[in-house]
Amino acid sequence: MKVTNWLIIGVMGLIVLFIGVFLVVSYQDKRVMVGPPGTIFEHEDYHPYYKCGVVALVVGLGIFVTSIVGALASAYVEPYLEKWLRRFEGTKPLQSPLQLPPPPVIYCRHCGAENRSDAKFCQKCGKRIAE
Ligand SMILES: [Zn+2]
Repeated sequence: MKVTNWLIIGVMGLIVLFIGVFLVVSYQDKRVMVGPPGTIFEHEDYHPYYKCGVVALVVGLGIFVTSIVGALASAYVEPYLEKWLRRFEGTKPLQSPLQLPPPPVIYCRHCGAENRSDAKFCQKCGKRIAE
């Protein structure tokens, strides 16, 4: 992924983060009564928007941090990764024995027949092949 894409995600994360901060700051003092009225379960609690703000703050911060890590990875790690991967593109698959070039040959100086380079005697005339 490109660095610019990560920056866009980072800005979006910052917006969510700021919304979260705004909600937390705005509603931290506003308490609401929750639970069945007139019972022992009725109690004072944080405003629902405050709780939403905390979630938005955490999520926004998470997105922002992820985008920074992603941008750094794109900028510094990806070039090395691509360079590393390109090393494998250049290598050819191993040659199978059938595709190997024929072994070098020498010619008999007596009859001119073709012989393997490691042959001691000519295949045709049987004379010794000089080394
Ligand atoms: Zn020969």
